[in-house]
Amino acid sequence: MVHRVAVLDKDSCVSRKCGLECIKFCPVNKTGSDCIILGEDAKAVISEELCTGCGICIKKCPFEAITIVNLAEELIGDKIHQYGVNTFRLYRLPVPRTGGVIGLVGRNGVGKSTTLNILSGNLKPNLGKYERTPEWDEIIESFQGTELKQHFQKIALREMKISVKPQQVHLIQKAWSGDGLSLIKKFDEKGVAKELVKELNLDTCINKPVTDLSGGELQRLAVAVTASKDAELYLFDEPSSYNDVYQRLAVSKTIRGLAEAGKKVIVVEHDLTFLDYLSDYLYLLYGESGAYGILSVLQTARTGINILLDGYLPSENVRFRDSPVVFDTAAPVEEQLLEEHVIQYNEFSKNYPGFNLGVEAGGLRKGEVIGILGANALGKTTFMKIIAGVEKPDTGNVETPLTISYKPQYLSADFEGTVRELLSKVSGGRFESSAYESQIIRPLAVHKLYDKSIRELSGGELQKVAISASLSRNADIYALDEPSAFIDIEDRILLAKALQRFVRAQGRSAFIVDHDVQLVDIVSDRLIIFSGRPGVEGHTTPPLNKLDGMNRFLRELGITYRRDVDSGRPRVNKPGSKLDRHQKVVEQFYYMSNTSTEESED
Ligand code: ADP
Ligand code: ADP
Ligand code: MG
Repeated sequence: MVHRVAVLDKDSCVSRKCGLECIKFCPVNKTGSDCIILGEDAKAVISEELCTGCGICIKKCPFEAITIVNLAEELIGDKIHQYGVNTFRLYRLPVPRTGGVIGLVGRNGVGKSTTLNILSGNLKPNLGKYERTPEWDEIIESFQGTELKQHFQKIALREMKISVKPQQVHLIQKAWSGDGLSLIKKFDEKGVAKELVKELNLDTCINKPVTDLSGGELQRLAVAVTASKDAELYLFDEPSSYNDVYQRLAVSKTIRGLAEAGKKVIVVEHDLTFLDYLSDYLYLLYGESGAYGILSVLQTARTGINILLDGYLPSENVRFRDSPVVFDTAAPVEEQLLEEHVIQYNEFSKNYPGFNLGVEAGGLRKGEVIGILGANALGKTTFMKIIAGVEKPDTGNVETPLTISYKPQYLSADFEGTVRELLSKVSGGRFESSAYESQIIRPLAVHKLYDKSIRELSGGELQKVAISASLSRNADIYALDEPSAFIDIEDRILLAKALQRFVRAQGRSAFIVDHDVQLVDIVSDRLIIFSGRPGVEGHTTPPLNKLDGMNRFLRELGITYRRDVDSGRPRVNKPGSKLDRHQKVVEQFYYMSNTSTEESED
C-alpha cells in the first residue's frame, strides 16, 4: 500500500478568488465523502486517508497550490516531523558522529534547516503527530536501537552542548552592537579567539562594530563564534555564503579543525568544491521542495558527490534529476567550437582612487562560455562592466558593436509587477519564444513563478528570475555576475547545463563570474584568472584553455583536483592526502590523467 502526502501551499490557496475547483472536481467528494473540504481559515484541507492520488485537484487548482505525492509505506515509521495538516514533513535524521565532517545537501525547501533545528534541540520532533507533540519519553523510545536515542536523551536532559551557525548571519547585527572581538570573547570557552581571527582573515575588521561589517566578514565572524564554543556537536548552516573562494577555504580549515579535534560536525552547504574539500561523509536530502524530504543513507563524500552529479540515488532507487552532468575526460572542447572571435578586446586598464585594474588582450568565440575566477575586489565586476560598455577604460579601448546583456552581482527587487511582466518588459515579448522557454525557463522552473510579484520572491527565486531576464534579451554576449548566490545545488547544476546548451544552440557567448569553482568548471569552455591584491590592484590573464586556467588558479588556491576513477569527474583532493602532496610536487593541480589516480583515496 502506498501512502499519500498532500501538501497545500497556503499562501497560494485563495478560495475567494477561485470556484473551489479542488472540492468540486474531487471524485472522492463526488461519492459523498469529505476528501477535500474548506478549513476554518478558508483554505483547502485534504484528507490523506481518503485521497486516491488521482491528481485531478492538482490540475484544476488555478493557483497550483496543491502537491500530492505517493510515498512507499515503509517510510511512515521514519517520519520525524510534520509542521501541521497538509504541510511539509521530514523523514529520517542524520546521526551525528565523530571521525570526520558530515555534509548535508539538498534543494531549498527539502528540510535542511528543519533537520539542524531538530538535532540542535531548537525544534522538538513530533514524529508526525502535529496535533499533540509527544513527550520526550515517546520520542526517545522511537529512536530505540539507533545512535539517535542517546542524542535525544541528552537533549531532553539538556546535557548536550551544541554550537550552531545559523543560516541568516545578518541577525548578528540585530543582537549585538559592539565590535566583533568582544563578541567572540564572550563565547570563547576554549581561549582560541586570537587563532580564529587570524585563520579566518578577520584581523582588519575585528575591532569594527558588527553593524559595519560586510556579508563575508559577518559570515566568518559567525563561524569564529561558533567554533570558539566548547561543544560536543557543531552545526553549520550554509557557511560559504557571501565569501570568495579564498575565504571559503579558510572557513573549511576552521570547520575541519573541529572534526580533527574529535568533535561531531554537520554542515549544510550548496558549494560543490567546498563540500568536496570539507566533508568526509555526505547525506543527501531529496524529495519535493516544500512537500517532503527524505534523508539518504550515509555516503562517503566521493560517492555522495558522484550521486549528486549523476542525479540518481542507487541505494534507494530514486532519480532526482532527468540527466547526469556529463564530463568530457578528453581534452577541452575548444576544437569543436567555431574559431571565429565574436569579440576582440585590446589591452586596457582602469583606475579608481586606490585601485588599478590591468587587462590583457583577448577574444571570445561564438558558442563558448568563459569562466572568470578570482578573489573578491580584484576587479572582476569592473572588467565585465567595461566589456559591456557600461564603464569606459582609462587606457586602451573596447570598441564593440556587439550587444551585451549583463546580470549584476547585486540584485534589486525594485520592480512593481509580476515575474511575467518583468520578463515581458525586458525581453520585448521574446521570452515566450519556444527555444528560450525550453532551454532556460523550464529547466529553472521559472514558469512556476510567473504570477508572483517580484517583491515577494525569495533570494534564490529572484536570482533565477534575474538570470532568465538577462538571457531573455537579444544579445551577442551574456555576462552573469555571481549567478550561484542564493541558489541551491540542484539549480546550480541545472543552470550550468542550461546556460551551456543555450549559448551553444544560439551561437552566442557568455561570461560567468562565480566563486563556486566546480560550477565554473562544469560550465566553462575557457577561463580568465584574476590575481593581485584585493582592493589595491588586479590583473587578468587572457582567456586560457581549461587545463592551463585551472592549473594556474588551483596553484594559487593551494588545492588539487583529480579525475574520479569511475566517472571521470574532476574532484578535490583532501588537503594533505598522498595524492594532494604528489600533485603539488609535479605541479599538476588539475586533470591528472585517469591512470595515475587509480588508487582512490577514499
Ligand atoms: P531547507 O533548509 O532545506 O531550505 P527548511 O527546513 O527551511 O528547508 O524548510 C522545509 C519546508 O518546511 C519548507 O517548505 C518550509 O516552508 C516548511 N517550514 C519550515 N518551517 C515551518 C513552520 N514553522 N511551519 C510550517 N512550515 C514550515
Ligand atoms: P570584484 O568584482 O573582483 O569583487 P570590483 O570590480 O567590484 O571587484 O571592484 C574592484 C575594486 O574597485 C574594489 O576595491 C572597489 O572598491 C573598487 N571600485 C569598484 N567600482 C568603483 C567605483 N565606481 N568607484 C571607485 N572604486 C570602485
Ligand atoms: Mg535552510
